[in-house]
Amino acid sequence: MTINRLSILAAILLASILSHAQTKELVHYVNTLQGTNSTFELTRGNTYPTTALPFGMNTWTPQTGNNGDGWKYQYFKETIRGFQQAHQCSSWSNDYAVFSLMPVTGKLTLNENERQAKFSHENEIARPHYYKVGLDNGITTEISPSERGAHLRFSFPRGAASYVVLDGYTGLSGVTIDPKNRRITGFVRNGRGMDRIEGMKNYFVIEFDKPFKAEGTWENRDNEQWEEKLEAKGRGVGAYVQFRDGQTVQAKVASSYISIEQAQRNLDRELGKDRAFEETQMTAKKTWNEHLSRVFVEGGTEEQMKTFYSCFFRASLFSRKFYELDKDDKPVYYSPYDGTVHEGYMYTDTGFWDTFRAQFPLNALLYPEMHGRYVAGLLDAYDQCGWLPSWSFPSEAGSMIGNHAISLLADAWAKGLHTFDPQKALDAYYHEATNKGPWGPANGRDGWKEYWTLGYAAYPKTGEATAKTLEYAYDDFCGYQLAKMTGNTFYQDVFGKQMYNYKNVYDPSVGFMRGRKLDGQWLEDFDPYTWGGPFTEGNAWHYLWSVFQDPNGLIDLMGGEENFNKKMDSVFTIDNKVNVGTYGRMIHEMAEMQMADMGQYAHGNQPIQHMIYLYNYSGQPWKSQAKAREVMENMYSSTENGYPGDEDQGQTSSWYVLSAMGFYSVCPGTNEYVLGSPVFEKMTISLENGNKFIIKADGNNKSNVYIDEVFLNGEEYTKDYITYQDIMKGGEFNLKMSAEPNKQRGIEEKDEPFSLTRK
Ligand code: CA
Repeated sequence: MTINRLSILAAILLASILSHAQTKELVHYVNTLQGTNSTFELTRGNTYPTTALPFGMNTWTPQTGNNGDGWKYQYFKETIRGFQQAHQCSSWSNDYAVFSLMPVTGKLTLNENERQAKFSHENEIARPHYYKVGLDNGITTEISPSERGAHLRFSFPRGAASYVVLDGYTGLSGVTIDPKNRRITGFVRNGRGMDRIEGMKNYFVIEFDKPFKAEGTWENRDNEQWEEKLEAKGRGVGAYVQFRDGQTVQAKVASSYISIEQAQRNLDRELGKDRAFEETQMTAKKTWNEHLSRVFVEGGTEEQMKTFYSCFFRASLFSRKFYELDKDDKPVYYSPYDGTVHEGYMYTDTGFWDTFRAQFPLNALLYPEMHGRYVAGLLDAYDQCGWLPSWSFPSEAGSMIGNHAISLLADAWAKGLHTFDPQKALDAYYHEATNKGPWGPANGRDGWKEYWTLGYAAYPKTGEATAKTLEYAYDDFCGYQLAKMTGNTFYQDVFGKQMYNYKNVYDPSVGFMRGRKLDGQWLEDFDPYTWGGPFTEGNAWHYLWSVFQDPNGLIDLMGGEENFNKKMDSVFTIDNKVNVGTYGRMIHEMAEMQMADMGQYAHGNQPIQHMIYLYNYSGQPWKSQAKAREVMENMYSSTENGYPGDEDQGQTSSWYVLSAMGFYSVCPGTNEYVLGSPVFEKMTISLENGNKFIIKADGNNKSNVYIDEVFLNGEEYTKDYITYQDIMKGGEFNLKMSAEPNKQRGIEEKDEPFSLTRK
């Protein structure tokens, strides 16, 4: 071998090492078991090991809980009873359109309790693109996802009969077995969100790669009588198929809300005719690696990498696609709002009370095209059901409080996503704000008459009235903001009069937001530690800060910056005691606040999640920097205990992802992201427009959490926020980090983030 050939070989070797480093498999940093160690009393994320593609219509998961139990996978459980197609946002909302497959060896057992098999986590691999578990009975199950389906592989032990059981779950279902084509087709109809729409079904197609030895149908409600029939319909109807002993069997599954034909089309398009399991697995892995590389981090510890990418993974599941591609590749969807098929895009599975805060401001940054489609879909939903969605699952559930669709619409507009008619959006919001809908407290506006006439929702006439007043005032700001940006003077005037209504529920005599009665008097027996009553899943300590649109106005109400800062500081230092109030018992959010041990700072729930960023408005930005880092370091991890409470449809993950970038969306509806302190030394955000925004934090580590100096594209940058437009332009945001706070930086009025009230 000549020197020349040797050096060529060395160059090739070097190139391959370099390219390997560049294509580092980010998906391997993701642990989909993050947050799964959750119970009714205390949740560490309330998640399940979601096996899915980004924003995929269906997700897949092992099932440890009973059929119909929202706690579908709990880390401490020892048995699995099925592998199910899922959608669930949270155990509290249960699920819809579920069915499951379970491999069984030896004797045919159908009952979900009898067929369940033991497993341990050491025989489990849980990644977004690939889930694998070796059950104690010798069966191995593998799952790799596509957008509307999944590829499963069951490896059975030798010398024993091998079955796959299809469970039709809790509602009406139907199955047809086609042994010649090794196929089962059918539908399920379960979950409140499907029951709302008459005739709504989830159609599925399952194709096996091996011939059946025997097959039949069964009914899980009628205690598992099975019959050698090829077709059945009823509540909880399923099927079983037997294969030659000890085989490895692949099953390709896809579903559709439109028809069996469309489900078959989804399967053929996504999972191919003769595709091997490995190919689906590789495709899913590539998709995730490309997706996760949109935010490429460097520096930081291994655990920080794992936490970041696990959170980024979960933030990348919502909003969930609800559209399918027809024979001409055009997007079409079955509307969960009117039960007919429409052309265009639709998404679902999100509750805006949680997700307006960070999930959508993150989506607007990373996926503007999808987000533009998403907000346009809100007005399509309005056309179809007469209301703007507030909690889609998959139809409108109206859960929690507020009319936050307007937050998404105003936020999108402020960020240049002009994909909808703003006049129509404002009309729809006006209708929302001056009516009460039939489907839950956040469908229309609870207490709207008093809110418009008295300037606040009155307690106890309206439950959780003070929390509602605060969030309505913010929503009205968003209406005002959208009107202002689009030159609509009428609505600018209408909503502009309401957006300061937060002042009507602040009682200076106690220094808190407080319940207020119909006659204008304050609710008696004020106690800031008491949960519920006029508040939602929180107390007065948590809701004092819910003035996203006007922190300066709040500072004035509270007697100036010094008092404000003192109160902010005290949130973290006072007792973490809980008075259960109208809840009458400890709810998990209370237990999580106590577990966090940061006084009354209840990061495990949404109301206070923006609060630590408010020091930027009160002349002490360095405290936001330190607290953001403390929360990221202490309350998040990549493990089964990885969240400080419910994850909530990507919101709590998005809080982490944005905060790890070094900023947070305090007031969606503006184009600003307010500064905190980034986790990594370097982060490269590859934007959809092809630009790269690089956040460099020189000297960053666990001690150097303070920002000493900032440069944007080489120019000194003194502001305490960065705009969406500046990020989208691409460039370099260079922060010099320090162990000591720089108390001179970012304290001038001109550097403060948006507030309706200027000082
Ligand atoms: Ca929550």
